[in-house]
Amino acid sequence: MPTDCLFCKIAQGDIPVNFIYEDEQVVAFNDINPQAPQHFLIIPRKHIPTTVDLTVEDESLVGHIHLVAAKISQQLGFAADGFRLVNNCNEAGGQAVWHLHFHLLAGRNLAWPPG
Ligand code: 5GP
Ligand code: ZN
Repeated sequence: MPTDCLFCKIAQGDIPVNFIYEDEQVVAFNDINPQAPQHFLIIPRKHIPTTVDLTVEDESLVGHIHLVAAKISQQLGFAADGFRLVNNCNEAGGQAVWHLHFHLLAGRNLAWPPG
């Protein structure tokens, strides 16, 4: 893993963060700059820079992240109201941290199209 990757450090516990969910493949925690009343980041423990760096061996990992998002939405009670699960990929997609992550946003009506 790259020693300078912020999210690798968070996933490994080198930077202390309260995980709202964790298992052997992923961790989830509050975004430091929330864009909705509830805004979590779900990240793989494995360092993958962007969506376009995914390989066939990561197929089940990405599916697992979606199932974790569904589980969190049910446990925290916003599954029925609705939420958004998004991945920003590369510069034009709005990506700022180069370790794959999915934003899980909830708690308000989310506009479409996004900015
Ligand atoms: P991106 O723009 O790459 O899709 O999203 C990166 C997200 O990481 C942003 O929403 C930003 O607020 C969040 N973030 C950046 N640094 C930290 C940090 O140190 N801790 C946490 N919890 N979130 C961070
Ligand atoms: Zn990383």
